[in-house]
Amino acid sequence: MAAGVYLDHAATTPMRQVAVDAWVRHAQALNPGGQYTSGRRARSVLDDARETIAALLGCEPVEVIFTASGTEADNIGVQGLFAASESRRVISTPIEHPAVLETVQSLGAEVELLPVDAQGRVSDLSALDTPAALAACMWANNETGAIQPVEQVIGRASAVGTPVHVDAVQVVGHLPVNFAALGATTLAASAHKFGGPRGVGLLLAKRSPAPTGVLHGGGQERGIRPGTVDVAGAAATAAALEEAVSEIPTELGRLRGLRDLLRTGITDLVEDVVFHTTESSLPGHLHMSFPGAEGDSLLMLLDSLGVEASTGSACAAGVNRASHVLLAMGVSEAEARGALRFTLGRTSTESDVKRVLGLIEDVAARARAAGMAF
Ligand code: PLP
Repeated sequence: MAAGVYLDHAATTPMRQVAVDAWVRHAQALNPGGQYTSGRRARSVLDDARETIAALLGCEPVEVIFTASGTEADNIGVQGLFAASESRRVISTPIEHPAVLETVQSLGAEVELLPVDAQGRVSDLSALDTPAALAACMWANNETGAIQPVEQVIGRASAVGTPVHVDAVQVVGHLPVNFAALGATTLAASAHKFGGPRGVGLLLAKRSPAPTGVLHGGGQERGIRPGTVDVAGAAATAAALEEAVSEIPTELGRLRGLRDLLRTGITDLVEDVVFHTTESSLPGHLHMSFPGAEGDSLLMLLDSLGVEASTGSACAAGVNRASHVLLAMGVSEAEARGALRFTLGRTSTESDVKRVLGLIEDVAARARAAGMAF
């Protein structure tokens, strides 16, 4: 059987060799808070990583907070800005990743979700004209890849003094990011989405207003994320981000070309496919529904043939329910259950696309013949 085809890069992407090398090089680093030689040595590696990341993302080194995941960065941004405010009002969107949506819903706040159009884009920003403790809006959606109007969200919110948390987990390392120019208050990223290690996240946090720490401890990372910092993980993240950012100009066009080849091929081969990824999306995303089929059937049939894909959010995988993102876009529950997401990335090639196109007609027919579970 031919080598497997991995098309779930939005869930996680293979670690880059530069990141593995940096990780191994610094695996023995000791506590960067230590006041002695080995501590200072570890601290200097951490400082270098912080400076590299800050330069790549357009912020000051002090604004870079290392966390243990994108989820943790989102939790600190949302919970921390809420705790730092006297207002009980929070604005977000119904298409956020659960790391934001569930956090927002756990606050006990008065939550207002901005409406979303059929393209999966936030469509009416008027709720932002009334001040709130915070507004939380993702930069690009993890399921459809739809790019959100974050600049406008930040402009409207800032005009009335509302801090903004941006979940940029799908964007950092894939599109250019300049935190200072963007004007967000906090921004979350995750190393494993751009070829860094799993288990390292980033929270960019302005000096003021700063999120209140949600964990209590030794005061590391400005007290916003206490805990001994993983120096090797930070160095690996910086190395991965440096390479990812340098590849953005070439990867954008290459991935878009491959994705469009996949979309055209599927349109030609399979009837009645509904595409949820539209213009102004991340270049490697292709999210669609095969009405009459279960997404799980499509996924398992593809897997049995060596193609790894997803029904959408990795966190919802294994649970047979319609995606909250598609439902918010007005997609029917039956159609949403037939969802399949291919996400291309650094290791994707034209032969991967051809392999999928060689299988998809038969896979769609078999999944449709199996029908819906209930
Ligand atoms: N936010 C978005 C948009 C994501 O896609 C993900 C992961 O899929 C996360 C947050 C969570 O990131 P992590 O897996 O690092 O916790």
